[in-house]
Amino acid sequence: MSDCIFCRIAAGEIPAKKLYEDEHVLAFHDINPVAPVHFLVIPKLHVPSMAELGPEHVEVMGRVMTTAARLARENGCGEGFRTIINTGRVGRQEVYHLHVHVLGGPEVLPAMLKR
Ligand code: AMP
Ligand code: ZN
Repeated sequence: MSDCIFCRIAAGEIPAKKLYEDEHVLAFHDINPVAPVHFLVIPKLHVPSMAELGPEHVEVMGRVMTTAARLARENGCGEGFRTIINTGRVGRQEVYHLHVHVLGGPEVLPAMLKR
């Protein structure tokens, strides 16, 4: 997926501020943070969005979620954080490589959605 920006980050072709990397998972700071802590956790495998997840992704998504939780603890989110997965047009997904946003910091975050 040479035209996918997150595949290119995973391949080392585009720089990113990496927080963690292993064979299956990569975490890096969001380039346009909207909270004091804002990083993304992705499977290295190209999956376009959460809508495409199937049984074959159970293990890698377990790795993504447990990595998100550990990195949140280790990066100043000991009192909580928010995870967001934007999916598709309605979810306002911008980058079509599945990613989990982790957002937090010292202050309570704004409401999730305006009522
Ligand atoms: P979304 O697809 O709506 O969940 O949002 C994609 C997120 O990726 C946005 O928060 C962007 O700021 C972030 N983003 C886009 N390009 C990069 C990049 N090169 N490095 C880090 N974060 C990025
Ligand atoms: Zn990709």
